[in-house]
Amino acid sequence: MAYIITEPCVDIKDGDCTDACPVECIYEGGRMFYIHPDECINCGLCLSICPVDAITWDGELQEKYQHYEAINRDFFDDDVSGLGDPGGWEKSISTDVDHPHVAALPEDVNAHLIAETSKQES
Ligand code: SF4
Repeated sequence: MAYIITEPCVDIKDGDCTDACPVECIYEGGRMFYIHPDECINCGLCLSICPVDAITWDGELQEKYQHYEAINRDFFDDDVSGLGDPGGWEKSISTDVDHPHVAALPEDVNAHLIAETSKQES
């Protein structure tokens, strides 16, 4: 069991979740962040911080985001980012690689969220 980052993170990448995570198990890809399923301790601290509600516990994944469990896990595989089990994220291991599903999403997949978050900031 682990927490999962889902589609609303794509191209938003707020990143405050990485500061909240006590075990640094949230890793930066090109278009979104990914949670390492074996390093997450299920504390839930990242959940309330995300401004676009992209993070959820895997036991409560919405049907439309079920595939994000595999997306978070497979991101670390050799044939995707190759990060494996780094034991903790730091900026120097950020990558511009994404899971193929995420990389193939349209550029405007979260255009409505980007508009909303920029409105809140102004
Ligand atoms: Fe990190 Fe806790 Fe969120 Fe898991 S649930 S990613 S350990 S902050």
